Amino acid sequence: MGSNPTSSAMDSEPQVLGVEVNDDRAAMQLALALAAHAADIGEVPVGAVVVRNGVVIAARFNERETLQDPTAHAELLALRDAAQALGEWRLNDCTLVVTLEPCVMCAGALMNARIGTLVYGAADLKGGATASLYNVTSDPRLNHAPIVRHGVCADESTALLQAFFGARREGDR
Ligand code: ZN
Repeated sequence: MGSNPTSSAMDSEPQVLGVEVNDDRAAMQLALALAAHAADIGEVPVGAVVVRNGVVIAARFNERETLQDPTAHAELLALRDAAQALGEWRLNDCTLVVTLEPCVMCAGALMNARIGTLVYGAADLKGGATASLYNVTSDPRLNHAPIVRHGVCADESTALLQAFFGARREGDR
């Protein structure tokens, strides 16, 4: 395991609203800290932030277990928070940064939000809907096409997921 730069996340939820980020990697580091916190409370570690004009306006992590809500994925919760913060459902001038490739539901939500840019870390070969299984965000039949950048800090995202599922398998023994 070694040193963990986000170890402060062990205690409480990282407070990243209003933080200024200069690039994809800086935003992804915040999303990763949220994902690490999710793992600490027994949630599959996925974190997401919404950035507008270089400032984080929404920050959430997967809360499916906590809320017992099948739609409580990090991306969807972050989109809702962002729209509420702006008083506007169209997020065309926003960037959603998420640690894992979005699923079908979240890719659909991103399209409905008219998200301007999607940045994600690791590919989800079993459920990803923006490249791996489906290409919802680049389907020419749909009337919106966000800019998509991927692979940002992907190794860190994968390491969090592998540690989480590895620990859970050991717990099952
Ligand atoms: Zn999802």
